[in-house]
Amino acid sequence: MKDILYIVVPCYNEEEVLLETSKRLEEKLNQLIRMDMISLESRIVFVNDGSKDSTWDMIESLHDSNPLISGINLSKNRGHQNALLAGLLTSKEHADLVISMDADLQDDINAVDEMIEKYYQGCDIVYGVRSAREKDTMFKRFTAQSFYKVMNMLGAKVVYNHADYRLMSKKALEGLENFKEVNLFLRGLVPMLGFKTDIVTYERSERFAGESKYPLKKMFALAFEGITSLSTVPIKMITRLGIGIFFISILMLIYSVGQYFRGETVVGWSSLIVSIWAIGGLILFSIGIIGEYIGKVYLETKNRPRFIIDSFINTTQPKEQTEQ
Ligand code: UDP
Ligand code: MG
Repeated sequence: MKDILYIVVPCYNEEEVLLETSKRLEEKLNQLIRMDMISLESRIVFVNDGSKDSTWDMIESLHDSNPLISGINLSKNRGHQNALLAGLLTSKEHADLVISMDADLQDDINAVDEMIEKYYQGCDIVYGVRSAREKDTMFKRFTAQSFYKVMNMLGAKVVYNHADYRLMSKKALEGLENFKEVNLFLRGLVPMLGFKTDIVTYERSERFAGESKYPLKKMFALAFEGITSLSTVPIKMITRLGIGIFFISILMLIYSVGQYFRGETVVGWSSLIVSIWAIGGLILFSIGIIGEYIGKVYLETKNRPRFIIDSFINTTQPKEQTEQ
């Protein structure tokens, strides 16, 4: 008896790619079933993240023509991470292993075989890692690299060049379910789970059609989310900065007193005004960072649901929702 695989695909305004994506995923799933690697009960789960186009209608008609296809319709747009979580937690109720991937065919579907092999060899988490980024624009490459560097500097563990293309076993998903945070950054949470993990490398291609749902603003928001939800180093840095500046000001004091006794009054209105502005800016920046963390605490204490499901095709309610 082979294990049940669910492939979870979050979709936001993906009508241009959905047909092709589902065609290729169906082929893959059928092939895996034929090779006797997975059970006949395996499914493809499209999570509609409040799309404004015909994505959900398409998912419905895809299911009509192929019962392998399931769908989850979120009540509104909650963002990639929450949509993914909705898909993962729903699938966990039925599947033994779940693979998540984007709808745009940027992730090489053929890496799935190797992921499943590693799963049968005993891995609970298998990360899909991009081997090259040639297809990305220079700018995306640069920002992505800086992101990983900053994350590393701040002591947050993320897998280099891994987005949200990964395999997780039921056990790993049960672990993930215990992380109740509202500010979700899965790439940072999953490595915290532990378990036996491995990576599979693949080449990432260009988006098959449609445009990126991660414009610059959202990309920075995700990076910021990642940093602030995984690390408190920014707050600690403020303290160190404060101490540093205090020492510098003592040195400056000693210097100007010395100058006074040597008969040279310190000229320099400009240095004065510049330092006032600089320190003022730093103070505001520091208050801002602290504010961000307090804002997060505020949101977390409300304990609001991370997603609300409108309807299902072929799957049922995850525990997280029935509890509430
Ligand atoms: N996505 C989503 N909700 C959103 C934004 C994006 O479910 O609010 C999905 C999107 O449909 C895609 C995946 O998240 O399947 C990644 O988005 P995209 O490919 O646009 O990001 P990029 O690869 O450009 O970083
Ligand atoms: Mg993409």
